Amino acid sequence: MFWDLKYFLLVMLPSLAIGLWAQMKLHSAFGKYSQVPIDSGMTGAEAARHILDQAGLRDVPVEEVPGQLSDHYDPTKRALFLSSDNFHGNSVAAVGVAAHEAGHALQHLHQDAMFNLRMALVPVTQFASYAWMGVFFIGMVMHLSHTLMWVAVAIFSVMTLFQLVTLPVEYDASARAKEQLFRLGLVRQDERAGVSKVLDAAALTYVAALVGSVLQLLYYISAARDNRN
Ligand SMILES: [Zn+2]
Repeated sequence: MFWDLKYFLLVMLPSLAIGLWAQMKLHSAFGKYSQVPIDSGMTGAEAARHILDQAGLRDVPVEEVPGQLSDHYDPTKRALFLSSDNFHGNSVAAVGVAAHEAGHALQHLHQDAMFNLRMALVPVTQFASYAWMGVFFIGMVMHLSHTLMWVAVAIFSVMTLFQLVTLPVEYDASARAKEQLFRLGLVRQDERAGVSKVLDAAALTYVAALVGSVLQLLYYISAARDNRN
């Protein structure tokens, strides 16, 4: 079920290809627009702070975290974390990413349905990924029974569902980011395209992850159906 040529050709190869393509798009968009200074001179941290304050979220802190593109909003801590480059950077890319993370805080504030669903799925998905490692290990050392294969399919479905729910949440956060940046006058008319390119490229990595996950799930379903033991 886990290792054969069919799996490699139908799942691994296309997933790797689309994943690499998305990463390349992201790195090229990010590489380009992190070199383009924003006219307002604002840093990512300042832009995020401004959007949060305007939404009445003065109590949500904007903090710096190590790593590259490690930017995220943590709903359990109600805090926004920006990577050093985007925290201090005053480029079109830095401000775009910072505004995207602020977009997640706005989703949280407005109790966006998909955002809430994704948050509810986090513990379930964490449990599923542990269970998946168990099944994966058993599958590597011995032949999986028919029942265990369907258990594996059920566990993997949870992880695919999580990727599926993530997609609209990410697109919505970017839409909110663009709306706030333009409404509050944080980016100029001619800077809009750059912000969009960076955020669209970032969203593409989530599309790639979902495609990979769906391919894998379909493969497991077909393997479970073929197995008559
Ligand atoms: Zn996001």
